[in-house]
Amino acid sequence: MKFRSPWQGTLFRESVAMLRWLLRPFGNLENHLVERLTLSQNRRVIKHLQNFPAEKLLLIMPRCVKKTGCQADVKNGLEECLQCRRCTLGDVAQLCDHFDIAALVAFRSHIAFEMARTRKPDLIIATACHDRLIKALRAVPDYPALLAPLTAMDKMCVNAGVDLLWLEEQLALVCGQQNDLPQRPIPSLTGELPGQQIARMADGP
Ligand code: SF4
Repeated sequence: MKFRSPWQGTLFRESVAMLRWLLRPFGNLENHLVERLTLSQNRRVIKHLQNFPAEKLLLIMPRCVKKTGCQADVKNGLEECLQCRRCTLGDVAQLCDHFDIAALVAFRSHIAFEMARTRKPDLIIATACHDRLIKALRAVPDYPALLAPLTAMDKMCVNAGVDLLWLEEQLALVCGQQNDLPQRPIPSLTGELPGQQIARMADGP
């Protein structure tokens, strides 16, 4: 069954755009709104997965997670990062290796959206800045996507951080290994864990 989301409706999308515009002058309120919308999306996706377990997974990381100046080609895989681990992408690589999941780094938002449209995954797990999260929800509303904002940046689009605990929780959930995780507080954007096992994606292109 098709994933149902309010982001598929023009009125909802335009209402959110208007609300963001109204909140923009008030400090962090716009980001709080985006986080609430993201949390609500994640709950919707978790509910969807309880009935429709995912077999194909697409994990998308933005390019700003990659260390500035690093020459590694990470577009098709994170093998070099596994050996290096000098930035967050190395930690992401280790998690993907542990869960045997292919990760892709999208250098532009439109490339990430194109990946979603061409690969047609059952589930997307992605992290991005607040603005790009909304862009993703607007651009590919038909695909269930578990989303989280980036945790920090040295400056705009430079050396961004990923909530690795959140990511590990999502990967464990997808791979049906959540019971193997050590006890720790669930990150705020995790949502509920379904009881059903979700198979991992076979592989990339
Ligand atoms: S982990 Fe190493 S190879 Fe991978 S992006 Fe970071 S610095 Fe580059």
